[in-house]
Amino acid sequence: MYLLLTCPVCRAARSGPQGLCSHCAASLFMPQIAAFELSLGPYSGALERAIKAYKFGQVRRLGELFGSALADTLQASSWPLDVICAVPLHPLRYMQRGFNQSALVARTAAKRSRLPYRPLLARVRTTRQQARLGAVERQGNVAGAFRSAPLAGERVLLVDDVMTSGATVTECALTLFAAGASRVYVATLARAQHP
Ligand SMILES: [Zn+2]
Repeated sequence: MYLLLTCPVCRAARSGPQGLCSHCAASLFMPQIAAFELSLGPYSGALERAIKAYKFGQVRRLGELFGSALADTLQASSWPLDVICAVPLHPLRYMQRGFNQSALVARTAAKRSRLPYRPLLARVRTTRQQARLGAVERQGNVAGAFRSAPLAGERVLLVDDVMTSGATVTECALTLFAAGASRVYVATLARAQHP
C-alpha cells in the first residue's frame, strides 16, 4: 500500500495518476536518439528507480508513462517504421511477473504512434539471466535463442527495457533480419552507461 501512495522515485511526494509524483514524472526522461537506436535516458538515478518499480511490478501503470514518452521520442526520431515488437520475456520471468514489461510499453507506444504492435519474436530455448554474465558470455548465452514470425521487408522497431551489453537486442535484430525485416531500430527505456 505504501508504494501505491508514495512516489517510488523520490519516496517523498504522493504519487499522481501516472504512478509517480508530478515533479518526478516531468523530469524523468532525457531521451538520446542515434541513427538506429534510442533510449529514454541513462540507466541511473530517478529513471533507474522508476524502471525497477515498474519491472518488479509494484507500479505497473508506469507502462503508460514509459509508452507515451517512447511515442514522443519516436516522433522526434522521424524513423520510418512499419511495425513495433518487443523482446520476449523468459517464460520463467513471465510466470513470476505475470507481464512482459517491454511488451506493455511497446503496445502503448504503438497505439499512440498509430502503428501496429505484433509479438514477432519468441524464445526457442531457455537462457541464463544476462545480468549474471560477462559481455562475451552474454553473446553466447542468447545466440540462436529467438525465432521470428516471417516478415516481408518491414521496418521493425524492437523495444527492450534496459540495454547493457546490447547482446540481447543484437541477437533479436539478427533474428528479425533473417526472417525478412529490411531495417531494425531499437528503443530501450534506459541504457547502462558502464556495462
Ligand atoms: Zn517523486
